[in-house]
Parts: sequence; structure tokens; C-alpha cells
Amino acid sequence: MIYHYNCPSCQRLIAVEHTADAVVCERCQSTAGRVWGFHVSSSMKEHFNHAVRDYVSNQRDFEDKLKMAAEKNSIATGIDHEYVPLTPAEMMDHEHLKVDVGAGNEHTKRVAERTR
Ligand SMILES: [Zn+2]
Repeated sequence: MIYHYNCPSCQRLIAVEHTADAVVCERCQSTAGRVWGFHVSSSMKEHFNHAVRDYVSNQRDFEDKLKMAAEKNSIATGIDHEYVPLTPAEMMDHEHLKVDVGAGNEHTKRVAERTR
């Protein structure tokens, strides 16, 4: 279980493996408050999505950030990435589809990866 805290001064997102009322920001020493994330795969509540490494609050927001994440990964790795959202049915059926839905990637599957 990973718990997220958000620094109010530098907006740094801090992930820790233990829960606490507050943690101290490594960068600016401010006290960072707990971010209450939700991992609800059947509906799009605000949650921290590990595929886009950001908080998403609705489907449109998620898809925008997904595109940005794919572009960043493509640039960083030299490999074209394309991410598409999973439908709830696909998420239920991911083992059958052999879709890689790693921990925290419950809204996302990688559909294409090819070398330029
Ligand atoms: Zn900070």
C-alpha cells in the first residue's frame, strides 16, 4: 500500500509506504498533508493514476493526461507509445485478453509499442 502526500509549498507529490498524519517534504521541509486517493475501477472518481503519474478527476482529464504520458514516454525512450483507456468490461476481462494491467494501471492498457 502506497500513501500519497502533497507538499503545499512546492506541490511535490510524496509517496510513502507507511501511513502518517503528515510527512516532511524532502525538498523544502514543509509539512505535506495526506492526499486521499481512491482506486475505484468501475467509475471515474478522482484518483492517482500511475500510468499518467498524476491525479485524474474525470474521463476527459484522464484521456488528456494519458496522451501526454504516451508522448513523454515516446520521447524519453525513442519508442512510440500509445495508451488507451480500458473499458470496465475490458478490465474485468483483462486476464483473458492478456492485457497488462499492472498495479495502479487499472484504467490503462498499452496497445502499441514499436521501434521506430
Ligand atoms: Zn515541498
